[in-house]
Amino acid sequence: MVIKNVNLEIVIGVTSKIPETTLPEVAFAGKSNVGKSSLINALMRRKSYARTSSQPGKTQTINFYNINELMYLVDLPGYGYAKVSESVKAKWGKMIEKYLRTSKQLKQVFLLIDIRHDPSANDKMMYDWIVENGFRPIIVATKLDKIKRSQVQKQVKTVRNGLGLRKEDVLIPFSSETKQGLEELWKYVDSYVLE
Ligand code: GDP
Repeated sequence: MVIKNVNLEIVIGVTSKIPETTLPEVAFAGKSNVGKSSLINALMRRKSYARTSSQPGKTQTINFYNINELMYLVDLPGYGYAKVSESVKAKWGKMIEKYLRTSKQLKQVFLLIDIRHDPSANDKMMYDWIVENGFRPIIVATKLDKIKRSQVQKQVKTVRNGLGLRKEDVLIPFSSETKQGLEELWKYVDSYVLE
């Protein structure tokens, strides 16, 4: 998709109702620091429109970016952030689950996993939630530039096995630094919008 305009149109917090939009939505989930803001910025071809972890005061909200008045990229709150209490973590979880369960326009969920590591217990839980809500998530293995090319196949296997993916499940190795995988990612995003 050629990006003509992007607009952070809706921001909802823990207690808010899930908005009923009229455009298709694709959502991005992943643990804090996995590279989700960087990926969304890369998709929108903006340097720093989506907030990155390094910015203080990053609150836990669901952010709806309107793209060309055609669709929303939906930024779900990063999970597994160590410095918050269990009760706050539980609230984020509930908010994410409520969104997955009730959004009528949600077409697909992209789950981001750091290509360097085994999926964590939280990653697996997130994957299961997505599946339980009727989606076959697309996995984006982030920070591809941080490993050697000779390690890519092995790490892809580690992520696939860790989550228990099936052969037909899609995994896209991706780097926000080099933009490797960006075109393929857009191909999938487009496919849910233009259907
Ligand atoms: P978020 O918490 O998931 O939104 O993660 P961010 O997008 O804020 O990224 C967390 C950190 O990882 C930042 O320091 C980014 O610069 C860095 N980062 C994100 N994506 C990549 C990538 O593809 N390659 C490299 N080398 N660093 C990345």
